[in-house]
Amino acid sequence: MAWFKREIKGIITTTEEKKEAPDGIWNKCPQCKKPLHYSEQVENQYVCHYCGYHLRIGSKEYFSVLFDDNQFTELFTTLHSGDPLHFTDTKKYTDRLKETKNKTGLTDAIRAAHGKMNGEELVIACMDFTFIGGSMGSVVGEKIARSIDHSIANKIPFLMISKSGGARMMEAAFSLMQMAKTSAKLALLSQAKIPYISLLTDPTTGGVTASYAMLGDINIAEPGSLIGFAGPRVIKETIKKDLPKGFQTAEFVQEHGFLDFIVDRREMKEKLASFLKMLAPVSAKEEKTEPQA
Ligand SMILES: [Zn+2]
Repeated sequence: MAWFKREIKGIITTTEEKKEAPDGIWNKCPQCKKPLHYSEQVENQYVCHYCGYHLRIGSKEYFSVLFDDNQFTELFTTLHSGDPLHFTDTKKYTDRLKETKNKTGLTDAIRAAHGKMNGEELVIACMDFTFIGGSMGSVVGEKIARSIDHSIANKIPFLMISKSGGARMMEAAFSLMQMAKTSAKLALLSQAKIPYISLLTDPTTGGVTASYAMLGDINIAEPGSLIGFAGPRVIKETIKKDLPKGFQTAEFVQEHGFLDFIVDRREMKEKLASFLKMLAPVSAKEEKTEPQA
């Protein structure tokens, strides 16, 4: 008989608790395999200071990187997914949602917030990959739609940070409808002449790439991000050809004209602020001419 018996299986610490790692915690850079101290990661905006690898982070970290003094008001926190199709795969969708919420401390794969970046007001909607692969379901679509409404009502620029495996299979057609809904809302934002910047991070794929992620007035990405629609294996089988080197990296996508810039996360806040400054005079000028018309 064993001396010690593990009574509860697996790791039971919630992700939210894990993020509050005490000082002295190290982890390994996935690219160069060098050890990174937690406090160094925070200081370096979660970029490896040896090789420049951009660690995958979530809305909590992006908000802390971009909003001044990490001050912001979170919007639409009460939205939760329903289960209109009574979907079951390996487990019930309702159970999967409940488990993921407990594990991540998030309510869905996106958080929206209103705050200031370099002193200028901004609405940011940021996706979380840890919540069912950052999949786009009705809550993701609805929060983006409402964030855009909030931007229009308050005349504040909108920044979307995408990180997604695509549509949420458990909501099937309801997920796909979010593509049309968010695209239509972005058209209204454009009519209101309010700037929209889309930031694509690792990975941005599927229905997200096919809708709001590629509709920015400026589309930017973090270095080395995987950006695509279908996975490389599916494409290879369809076109029956080998894919070129670096296919679906941010650099490849930019070279082929689908991205405007690739920006290092450590320079992100300054770059975004300067883009918004460049775009701002247009809307201000339009406003001035309106009363005469
Ligand atoms: Zn590294």
